Amino acid sequence: MSFDEINLIDPIKKALKEEGYTLPTPIQEQAIPYILERKDLLGCAQTGTGKTAAFAVPIIQILQNESGENHRKRLIRSLIVTPTRELAIQIGDSFNAYGKFTKLKNVVVFGGVAQKAQTDKLRAGVDILIATPGRLLDLMNQGFISLNEIKLFVLDEADRMLDMGFINDVKKIIAKLPHKRQSLFFSATMPPEIVKLAKTILVNPVKVEVTPEKPTVEAIKQSVYFVSKPDKKSLLIHLLNNPDIESALVFTRTKYGADKTVRFLNRAKIHAEAIHGNKSQNARQRALSNFKARKIRVLVATDIAARGIDIDELSHVINFEIPNIPETYVHRIGRTGRAGLGGIAISLCDSEEKAYLKDIKKLISVDIPVITDHQWKLDESNQPDSGNKEKTKSASRNPSLNHNKTSNSGENRKRKSGRRNWSK
Ligand code: AMP
Repeated sequence: MSFDEINLIDPIKKALKEEGYTLPTPIQEQAIPYILERKDLLGCAQTGTGKTAAFAVPIIQILQNESGENHRKRLIRSLIVTPTRELAIQIGDSFNAYGKFTKLKNVVVFGGVAQKAQTDKLRAGVDILIATPGRLLDLMNQGFISLNEIKLFVLDEADRMLDMGFINDVKKIIAKLPHKRQSLFFSATMPPEIVKLAKTILVNPVKVEVTPEKPTVEAIKQSVYFVSKPDKKSLLIHLLNNPDIESALVFTRTKYGADKTVRFLNRAKIHAEAIHGNKSQNARQRALSNFKARKIRVLVATDIAARGIDIDELSHVINFEIPNIPETYVHRIGRTGRAGLGGIAISLCDSEEKAYLKDIKKLISVDIPVITDHQWKLDESNQPDSGNKEKTKSASRNPSLNHNKTSNSGENRKRKSGRRNWSK
């Protein structure tokens, strides 16, 4: 199916063409026609699937068609609530890109920065509001935002809202929405609490599911090093000294861990920066832009800060600490190998983390090759009794360190400034 068959209006078609989008992604193909029919939607999809355009494009079309008939004062007619500032900014950029040939205006509001610039924009009038829950409630309570005219509501990354403890904020926001509205609900996973929440928001929803998690994981070359906690530093430095690693996103579980990692990497002359919730919005954006522009090779992140971040051509993901939630592992390594393209994921696992690794293997049902021949390896007696026993000759000769530029999934790797080629 092409975008032409979806019946999009010319200004959107033109914008998508400029973005270099030729074919809709599976989630776009499935979701856009239903949203245009004004149906509620339950979308099970993670970032990297094109889900932003799946909701942004039809919202722009619906609001644009309405604006033609109706020349009243600009009021917020669509609200998108998303868990992190980075996601909010990315969604705002997407609305700007897809709506550039329309007169619709959007504003992005998030915490951690002064509110004045945001409230000035709100006063000038907006059609689409993209917000993180805390700042949205804050500005609502101060009377800067009214949700009375919302026709289209999007809850993005609902499972992450739950993980981040935003669920009560989300419920408060929903309570202020008009009853007569269209709602779109997106979540990468559907745990029972999320299903319950979805039921309170949606009316007879159409269900759309794209589950690239397993195929994505399979396209990524994974490996694990068993190493003691104190030796992780030396091993990470050793790995990152390999020039074959063009860019690496290193994950830690905590903000403190991220800062500590950056400090020891910088002492080892490996230039790294961190992104996490304690950094100012500007510092996070700067680190991310430096990384995207290849000014720094290593970005150290916590899960929440990295969620949804779209980095083209990311060659390696390194789990400096193993996540305790198996789905998080899938999200992490999915930062590389986007849209089914190849990538490399390396995990450093200490004895306490072996149980987490076991859960991960169970979830992905893929064996993760163990690299045994390195100088920091854990005592043999500490090796896990289950799992993969595949041995690789040497860490420095480990083929998984060579990022295969020609793609290991056989798909086109051409990616320019967010443009993707989705093969059908
Ligand atoms: P998302 O899942 O919304 O974060 O999108 C992931 C990436 O795919 C972004 O860089 C988008 O610009 C890009 N993208 C979305 N839809 C398409 C499409 N139909 N064709 C090519 N690239 C796309």
